[in-house]
Amino acid sequence: MSKTVLAATMPAPNAPIAVREFPEPQLEPGGAVLRTRFSEVCGTDVHLHHGRLAGVPYPIIPGHVSVGVLSDIRGTIRDIDGAPFMEGDLVTFLDVHETCNACYQCLVAKQTTRCPHRRVYGITYGAGEGLLGGWSQAIWMKPGVKIVRLPADLPAETFIGGGCGLVTALHAVDRAEIRLGQAVVVLGVGPVGQSAIALAALSGAGEIFAIGAPDDRLSFAKRMGATETISLDTAHADRLAAVRRRTGGRGADIVIEAAGVPDAVPQALDLVRDGGRVVVCGQYTDHGSVPINPHSQLNRKHVELRGCWGSDFSHVHRAVEIAARQGHRVPWREMAARRYGIERAGEGLAAVERREVLKAVIEL
Ligand SMILES: [Zn+2]
Ligand SMILES: [Zn+2]
Repeated sequence: MSKTVLAATMPAPNAPIAVREFPEPQLEPGGAVLRTRFSEVCGTDVHLHHGRLAGVPYPIIPGHVSVGVLSDIRGTIRDIDGAPFMEGDLVTFLDVHETCNACYQCLVAKQTTRCPHRRVYGITYGAGEGLLGGWSQAIWMKPGVKIVRLPADLPAETFIGGGCGLVTALHAVDRAEIRLGQAVVVLGVGPVGQSAIALAALSGAGEIFAIGAPDDRLSFAKRMGATETISLDTAHADRLAAVRRRTGGRGADIVIEAAGVPDAVPQALDLVRDGGRVVVCGQYTDHGSVPINPHSQLNRKHVELRGCWGSDFSHVHRAVEIAARQGHRVPWREMAARRYGIERAGEGLAAVERREVLKAVIEL
């Protein structure tokens, strides 16, 4: 086995992605190495490359959702059922580590995704701290990292096709509390929106409207489970009219915002029916403020508006379960079609940035 590992690094905001050699991790008891098979390029990586996230210790090795094969296990690492992981297991892991289980957010508010101590592989760990990002031939599994085994009937390609978007969408759909037969609007047809559509369908939603662009993503949204697609070429007033026409004039029971532009939030408040629920999960970076009419869009409308930040282990664990059971009919695997070797990671990032591809996967 080679003593060095190649990883693609993001040296600084707006600097070209550079492949560097790193030493193999020095392992302590409870640690292991993940021999990466796939990692992904997500919208967050574009934000990272634009320097739009605070507290990022550049240079970093990007890649926060990854799949690979466990090796070099030190001691015994067990899954949540107590079964030991074996070298050779195909696994993924929760990118968030060091959630403290000792602070107000963890113990009192019970919202661990807001724990101030959490660190994230590929985002808030620096390359100087080791192989802690997925665009790398190997990833250092620090002791305590939460690992999930992929079942034998879940190909790595299917899971990474869903990837970060599936995990994020699962949290958003949990927050949406969709009831059987309800009308759902999903704003945005990127990876999060696509998986939100699929999960809304699996949740038993009735009408599922996908609003977004371009047209090929809207066509894909239909295959993910959308019953109706509306292009951004249509004016907002006409989109609103189209949704109301199919919901008895009322608007949607649930709107999930996965578009990322601030304007999508007041639009979501227009699209939801009186007493409905809006979940905002697309505003991962600060793109500025937008006016909302507190009277007509919130108070009088009796609307419930919920934010949704990050994911925890439950979302990754259940995403694996869902991908394994539903991957034969939900086309997540096709979302992993555009693959880039490590030396072409920068090209993959650029393709996501230019929105040429729904998703880029780094194949190791
Ligand atoms: Zn905490
Ligand atoms: Zn992501």
